[in-house]
Amino acid sequence: MSISLIGKSISESATLRLNEIAAVLRAKGEPVIHLGGGEPKTKAPLDAILQAVSLLNSAEVRYTPADGIPELKQAVIRYTQDFYDRKVEPENVIISGGAKQAIMVALQAILNPQEECIFPAPYWVSYPEMCKLIGAVPVPVYPEDGTFYPRIQDIERVVTSYTKCVIINSPNNPTGAMYSEDFIRDIVEFCEKRNLYLIMDDIYHRLIFDGRKPINCYEYANDLGENSKLILINGISKQYSMTGFRIGWAVANKNLIRVMTNIQGHQTSGPSVVLQKAAVGALNGTQSGVENLRRTLENNRNVMMERLNAFEGVRAYKPDGTFYCFVDFSHYEKDSHKLSEFLLEKVRVLTVPGIEFGMEGFLRLSTCGSIKDITEGIERIKWALDPNSPNELYIGERKLVRDWL
Ligand code: PMP
Repeated sequence: MSISLIGKSISESATLRLNEIAAVLRAKGEPVIHLGGGEPKTKAPLDAILQAVSLLNSAEVRYTPADGIPELKQAVIRYTQDFYDRKVEPENVIISGGAKQAIMVALQAILNPQEECIFPAPYWVSYPEMCKLIGAVPVPVYPEDGTFYPRIQDIERVVTSYTKCVIINSPNNPTGAMYSEDFIRDIVEFCEKRNLYLIMDDIYHRLIFDGRKPINCYEYANDLGENSKLILINGISKQYSMTGFRIGWAVANKNLIRVMTNIQGHQTSGPSVVLQKAAVGALNGTQSGVENLRRTLENNRNVMMERLNAFEGVRAYKPDGTFYCFVDFSHYEKDSHKLSEFLLEKVRVLTVPGIEFGMEGFLRLSTCGSIKDITEGIERIKWALDPNSPNELYIGERKLVRDWL
């Protein structure tokens, strides 16, 4: 069978594969604890459901404009005004099938084959593959000081004549690190000076802890006109617990949005009108769910940190936001795939190998589940790894006996 070079270069999404494995094991009655998830467990807002149901009840479900329905664009315009103090027009907005598609069409609109796209590591699993899908070159950059917080010198270090854009995701998947205002100011100014596109993936910007306030990238931009190369990405998946609705958006200059719309128009057309209506409901409806989710996640983060800090041999870094914790397990096993498989096989705890995010020796643990999932999950991991643990562990009725170490 003849497969294209690009097709061959793309690897399976590790996170989606792990979700499948967990579902199959659960269906078999296995007591799996899913610490690998990337989606909150709360229900979608009622306002979203009502809007979608009302549209469905009309039984008129038609194509939408390739860049989204006007009503949702208006809701995004208001969101941009509320959270970024920036007034944009409908022509500055495209609605896509998730933030994922918004980023993808943005990259397709700006990158030529061979051109480079820089992003700090560890990074969201899809950035490198998205670049490769268009024949462009992903350039992950590892902060020189060994932290999860890049400095502008780190970015400067890898810029070449092929560099076309930078992607910044803060708070970050997988570390939960929220970059400093100084860094955001520096990167906005740097990209303007070097004439680079800057994609701000703000998908987690409202899910932040310890009294932090979301950072507004526009505050540091000198050029807010139609020549601006700043692309703002957001969506409803995380903040409204609506991952399956697949609605996200980009805000950028009108010319770029027009090109992105042309691409999306041939790729998928506009997203489903049912789901766009649901997004209108979420954005215009009661907002208390977002704060409730944020508070729950902060509490879950605290519990996770407490348990990890008491786990000898592992190094945990306190997340500033999101629902992830990126933990150094290299004391026990340096090969993160091996470790993740081991934990799933032996104690039925699902984790995501750090190497998927560009960093070996780490596992990404999610705080999306219940407190019970977090505490029991960490307890099982500890039992499996710590040679001083007792020889037996009960999972419900099932007795596990350690026959390793
Ligand atoms: N960016 C980041 C950093 C993410 O973690 C995700 C989802 N895991 C996305 C974008 C895509 O989100 P969506 O569901 O809106 O496509």
